Amino acid sequence: MKLRKVTAASAAVLALTLSATACGGGDKDSGSGGDKVKVGIKYDQPGIGLKEPDGSFSGFDVDVATYVAKELGYEPKQIEFVETKSSDRENALSRGDVKFIVASYSINDKRKAKVDFAGPYLLAHQDLLVKTDSKIAKGADLNGKNLCSVAGSTSAQNVKDKIAPQANLRRNSGYSECIAALQSGAVDAVTTDDSILAGYAAQDKFKGQFKLVGEQLSNENYGIGVKKGDKATVDKINAALKKMVDDGSWKKAVDKNFGPAGYKNEPAPKIGVVVK
Ligand code: GLU
Repeated sequence: MKLRKVTAASAAVLALTLSATACGGGDKDSGSGGDKVKVGIKYDQPGIGLKEPDGSFSGFDVDVATYVAKELGYEPKQIEFVETKSSDRENALSRGDVKFIVASYSINDKRKAKVDFAGPYLLAHQDLLVKTDSKIAKGADLNGKNLCSVAGSTSAQNVKDKIAPQANLRRNSGYSECIAALQSGAVDAVTTDDSILAGYAAQDKFKGQFKLVGEQLSNENYGIGVKKGDKATVDKINAALKKMVDDGSWKKAVDKNFGPAGYKNEPAPKIGVVVK
């Protein structure tokens, strides 16, 4: 009697498992293109990489990642986006957590010692975001002020190295926390790429509250990070990026994602040419 009960329960579990597998299909696609591909993006940068409340993703990096994945043989439904925060990017690639990263990821020598880059696919510049009535007008004005940036970013490093070594720099794990600190008055400015700051400034909930100072404090050449030594993937991604520019998809993605924020982006970079 007891045994029978267990058997019945097991059968029920088995039936559930089978039907779940049947309904959930698509995880492992046996057709060409193979399994899923994991791609690192930001989750909290509107216009660049954003996880929407409904679980979908938007932004320029998301569109670039989707185009590149397609060229690599993956349909959009085969992409699994993974959050890669600024300070996690090199490790995520070394560990093999993701195949490639499209996350406002600037190419520089320090990072090139640990990962390889395809691209660049966008040229941005470090800038400052302040309250609309702020008197901060240039980088040096930040000395002695409370400033927020993100750990593991070139933006935080540049502040310490050259822009304002005397600033009281707070490093958060994401820019959205910095924006909250700016709104509450805990910091006087947020610094990172103009492409990112423009996206926050244009959000409905912040309309009229913040302004970009308009300084070009650095050149940020966005690359697509891959595991060190994976030259085959770098070559494939470079070919995809070139195609994306040539067929007009790059321009479309720029207009769709940066247009609403009024961000005036630089023309498409040449593959392999990093602006110092
Ligand atoms: N592009 C800069 C960087 O790679 C700042 C933006 C970011 O932290 O993602 O560090």
